[in-house]
This record gives sequence, C-alpha cells and structure tokens, in this order.
Amino acid sequence: MSRKPIRIAVLHFSHETVTFLKNDTTVEDFLYEGSPASGEALLAHDPRSYMGGFVKVAREFDEVELIGIESPLWPKTGTGSGWVTQEAYERFAGKMLSEIAAAQGKAGGEFDGAYLCLHGAMGVRGVPRPEAELARRVRAVLGPNAFIAATFDPHGNEDEEFLRHADMAFTVKYFPHYDSHLQGERAARTLVRAIRGDYKPTHTTVKVPIISPTVLQWTGASPWMDLVQRALTWEAREPDAYVNFFFGFPFADVPDVGMTFQVLTNGDPQLARRIGADMAQAAWRQREKLLHSTKVHTIPEGVALAKRAVAQDATPVVLADHSDRSGYATWILQEVIAQDLSNVLIATIADATTIDALKAAGVKAGDAFDREVGGLADESAGAPVRIKGTVLGIVEGSGQLSVSVGFGRGNVLVISRYLAQIIEPSSLSALVADVSIFEVIAIKSRVHFRRGFDDSGFAKTILLVEPVEPFLGTVRLEGLPYRNVDLKKFYPYGEPVFP
Ligand SMILES: [Zn+2]
Repeated sequence: MSRKPIRIAVLHFSHETVTFLKNDTTVEDFLYEGSPASGEALLAHDPRSYMGGFVKVAREFDEVELIGIESPLWPKTGTGSGWVTQEAYERFAGKMLSEIAAAQGKAGGEFDGAYLCLHGAMGVRGVPRPEAELARRVRAVLGPNAFIAATFDPHGNEDEEFLRHADMAFTVKYFPHYDSHLQGERAARTLVRAIRGDYKPTHTTVKVPIISPTVLQWTGASPWMDLVQRALTWEAREPDAYVNFFFGFPFADVPDVGMTFQVLTNGDPQLARRIGADMAQAAWRQREKLLHSTKVHTIPEGVALAKRAVAQDATPVVLADHSDRSGYATWILQEVIAQDLSNVLIATIADATTIDALKAAGVKAGDAFDREVGGLADESAGAPVRIKGTVLGIVEGSGQLSVSVGFGRGNVLVISRYLAQIIEPSSLSALVADVSIFEVIAIKSRVHFRRGFDDSGFAKTILLVEPVEPFLGTVRLEGLPYRNVDLKKFYPYGEPVFP
C-alpha cells in the first residue's frame, strides 16, 4: 500500500544564554564557515546529536522528505555570550519563516510537519520566550493541521507556552547529555506517527518552584539520578508516554526560568496529568537534597585540597571551576601560583587579545612567552596574570588558535580565544603530549567534564570550585542581578507553596 508522501521542515536555533554576561550574542557570532546551514548540510551537521538521531529515524520511514530550512548553528562564542540581540533573532527566525512560507505557497510544497532542533535557554532581548515564539510563528505559517515536534536540552527554561503552539517536545534526560541522539530519534518517530494519525499528542506542563545552579544538576548523583529513573520508569510502564524533565538554567534572567516537567501521551490527557503530578511532587519532596547533591569549595580551599590529594597520591586531580562563564577567569591560576603547585595543567583561560597578538606575530613552539593573560572580561574574571615561560604548542581549529605555554615547575597553561569547556582529556592531546602526566588538571566545566574525567575513571580526585565572592556563575544565585525573576518565588530563596 503506498502512502501519501510526508514533507517535514527542519529548523535549528539554539543557544544557552548567560544573560548576565556583558557581550551580547550578535548576528556576526552566528555567521561563520558552515553557518547558517541549509538543505543536506543542516541535516548532516551534527550526526551524533539531536539532528543526527532525527534524520536517521525519519529516513527509516518510506516517503518522508526532510527539507533543511536555512538555520544558524551554535554561535562561535559557544555558551560564553550574553543576550541574543533582537536583530539576530529576527534576522534568522525571519529567514526561516519566509523560506517555509515560500515553499508552503507552491503547489505540492506544503509541509505536513516541522522539527525544531532547540536548546531552550536562549535569552533574546525583547522576546521573553524565544523558543515558544518560534513555534508560534511556525504554527501560524503551517496551519492547525500540521504537527510540530522539538527537541530540547534539559537546561531549557520553558513553561506552558511552548506546547501551546507545538505538539511535541523531547528533552535529554542525562547531565552529561548522553542521550541527545536518542531524543532526536524519538522526535522523528513520534512526528511521523502523528502525521499518519497513529499518535495523538496530548500533554501537560508542570512548573515546580525550584531554582538550582547547574553544577548541582549532575544526574550521576541522587536525587537527580532518582528523578531521571522515575521518568524512565513511567516511560517503561506506559507505552507512548514521554516525560521531559527540564532542570532549568538559572543564569538566564527570563520569566520562564526554573524546573519544569512536560509529559506527552497518546490521546490520554488524564494520564499525562497524573504522570506530571507524580514527577513534580517527587521533585518537590526532594527539594532540599536536590540543592545539596554536589559539594562546591572556594578556589583557595579547592587548591589546598588538590595539594593534599597530590601528597596522598590521589592523582590526577581535577579542579573544575564551574562558575567561569566568560572563560577569562584567572582565579585558579592565581591560586596555583600563590600556593606554589607544580605539574598543573590549566585548560583553558580565554584571552582573545593575546591569541590575536600571538597569531599576528606568527607564534611558534619554542618562542619565549611573557605576557599578562586572562581576566578583565568582567569582575568575575579577576585580574590578568603575568606568565613568563615558553610556548609549547599551537593548534588551529575552526579558524581559532589555541596555544600552550610551559611555566613554573612543570605547569602548562592553555590559552584559547573563547571559553573552552574541556570534556575529554584527549581533546587536549594536540597541545599537550600526555595529559595523564599532570598531577592536577584545572578546567572550566560544571558537569560535562564528568564524561571524560569521572565516568571514564580517569581522575582519582574531583573538586568543584568557585571564587570566594559570589560572581556571575556562582551557586549563590542571590548574588545575581535578576530583573525578570523574583527569587522569592522559588525554593530555596522563598517559601513557595506547592502544589
Ligand atoms: Zn545542558
């Protein structure tokens, strides 16, 4: 039996916006070789993640045509930039919508559905809920009969608004985000089933008044792990139920911040509500433990503990500054020098000025190095630190230089142009011959580093640290200058009543 061919528009628009950073995310940040992407290039741009999973499963069905709509990929700044400008949002969203509308107007060009590959924590000046707004505009062009599915990062800040316009959402469950590919696969399968009338999406959204710093949201520890397990259990018990657990992203000053559950079922709104209430109440009961799942030290304390771990041979030690959002922070470097540590690898300190100057000077391995590095991006970055040493290695990747500099007794500093979150030790191998020779490895990451440094068994000691003062990125959210969020409405800052 031949079926009517299905046409699906595929869009991508993702950012995790730290709205407290001073540097806006601009049009230029989204423009680089390969971005924006359209057609097959968009569909193929991230084969191991959401997009790859979506495309793979969509193409397992006969007569499904995917149309890659011109979309910006992640900005060059990664997660190290602030508010997306309204100009950038309107330019890229506008282009997407006009392309969909143009295709929609042609005979035989109508779309049966759309897939939106999103993150959920994009913050746009003047657009309070940018993902829901994109879904609203796509719905307006496609009409009420089309189906809209999306995938999200669990750090998304979402409320009821998104599923008011879209039909389905699928959110990664683990942090580190191991299952993005799987969520893309589910989005494809469920979207095609919905278009063919085999899945009737009904849903519920429940916001839980808990706000938590991302460093605490590691799903390798209870009770985060238990809530993920509870969601998986519901999905196992109830065929066609999907449970989305948004941990939330507190460094975006947006109205839909905080923890959210979404539940999808196949034509059973009562079941969706029952599962949503169960998940939300389970999270609420665990609220105190959710806020104490990971110990965070001050940087002086953490460096002293690292020194002690070295003396006890519990190496390599990972010192993870979870709080640095610009990448420029020098606090660990300052303290490593002050406490006179040796055999420390610091990866990385971002410093565009230094990188550009080194590039212009044609830097090469063996050159003497004597410069002030890092700091200054804002108060959270601290002061620049003068480093005298020798250039060891230079790597050029996606047009950006990274440089390693040896100094002190066996210490190595890696300087990058942008914030670099080191997730796997092997990602440094082009700059540092053998990462495992270092006694202490200082990185900028909250949880994703656990993939390569903890879950892998690489590190013997892991210490999460942040500066003494509660700067941007701190676990002490009360220190942040929120304008759109009233912390008193959230546990642990107020006494919200729930449910
Ligand atoms: Zn995330």
